[in-house]
Amino acid sequence: MLIEPATFLPALMQDFYAAGGKIVVTEFPDRSQESSLDESVIINCIGLGSRDLFSDNGLIPIKGQLTFLLPQPEVEYIMISGGLYMFPRSDGILLGGSFERKVFTPEPDPQVAKSLSGP
Ligand SMILES: Cc1cc2nc3c(=O)[nH]c(=O)nc-3n(C[C@H](O)[C@H](O)[C@H](O)COP(=O)(O)OP(=O)(O)OC[C@H]3O[C@@H](n4cnc5c(N)ncnc54)[C@H](O)[C@@H]3O)c2cc1C
Repeated sequence: MLIEPATFLPALMQDFYAAGGKIVVTEFPDRSQESSLDESVIINCIGLGSRDLFSDNGLIPIKGQLTFLLPQPEVEYIMISGGLYMFPRSDGILLGGSFERKVFTPEPDPQVAKSLSGP
């Protein structure tokens, strides 16, 4: 089974807004800002941001990179082999995936892109 993020996530957001949910975008530069929130329950889901905010050097990134090809509706199968995979999404053919421990840079690496898409 393949769940397409480009279809699923907007549907999820629609349900969230329909149920009265609100989104406020803000940055927490340090922990003092937490105490200014009115909410009685706070769920920390800032990913790697927790490393700085909570001085937790035990939290490390694992960088993953994907390559997208133009959509090909005629491709109706998934392939997974030797750590590589191909998912035929309606917004493009997804080729993955790389897995680099302790790599902090968000920029795509052309060498990795080459290793995902073949010669
Ligand atoms: C190559 C790759 C492919 C993947 N494919 C899939 C897939 O097909 N399906 C799937 O389900 N998952 C997939 N995942 C995993 C998925 O992307 C993650 O599990 C998901 O993004 C985690 O979401 P999150 O909201 O917990 O964290 P994040 O997406 O890391 O979001 C954290 C957010 O917190 C913000 N933030 C950080 N610090 C602060 C701060 N101090 N103040 C305010 N905001 C802050 C960041 O800017 C960011 O927006 C994939 C991951 C990779 C790397």
